[in-house]
Amino acid sequence: MAAEIRVFTCLSDNFGYLIHDPATGATASVDAPDAAPIIRELNAQGWRLTDILITHHHHDHVGGVAELKEAYGCRVVAPHDKSTKIANVDQRVAHGDVVRVGELLARVLETPGHTLDHVAYVFDTEKALFAADTLFSIGCGRVFEGSYPTMWDSLLKLRALPDDFKLYCGHEYTASNVKFALTVEPDNAALQARAEEVTRLRAAGRPTIPALLGDEKKANVFLRADDPAVAIKLRMKGASAEEVFGELRERKNKS
Ligand code: ZN
Ligand code: FE
Repeated sequence: MAAEIRVFTCLSDNFGYLIHDPATGATASVDAPDAAPIIRELNAQGWRLTDILITHHHHDHVGGVAELKEAYGCRVVAPHDKSTKIANVDQRVAHGDVVRVGELLARVLETPGHTLDHVAYVFDTEKALFAADTLFSIGCGRVFEGSYPTMWDSLLKLRALPDDFKLYCGHEYTASNVKFALTVEPDNAALQARAEEVTRLRAAGRPTIPALLGDEKKANVFLRADDPAVAIKLRMKGASAEEVFGELRERKNKS
């Protein structure tokens, strides 16, 4: 039986995600921005929370952990972080670890840059990538704790996943990301197609997530910082991927 994934809004623009294993009844929340909407979704589905998979220490990803753990006694999985910024953790994970949610398996990828502790969870059988604030649809996270080369390296790890994998990211930022991306690549046909789709989805009050990773590889300029054509568009012919990525990120910060 295939896993079921629920997508809903938490706080103002965070995504809440539940992944449910029908075979065992296990249900994981990927991050816990806020307990109330997660509990509401669990009740709506008739599911019981067994696990929380945390991606990084920012409050809008862990704010609901204590309340959920109290309510369900669920296991909390979080990245290794030497400063132990994340509380209530039962299991610490690092690159290459595999986390079990019932019979579902999630592979841990370390993706530092947005924060140093950031990890992504990849459910290979479900073709689902939970990338939180490393990779957004048509964008990427701000680089708060790492350097541009570190973040670029993390994006390459995600880009290496197959095209038919679905991206589940941390925030509904797609419309604003599209607006910026069009300033860099106004003639990118894949981006134009995504822009139309995003307008349609948002007008209907629907999330723009999941996004297909294959589409992101074509439409998301942050995943193509090593494409010489992108360097030329930025008037950085011959610059390294890291430099191009850094310039893109800085322009987005100012946009
Ligand atoms: Zn964050
Ligand atoms: Fe966030």
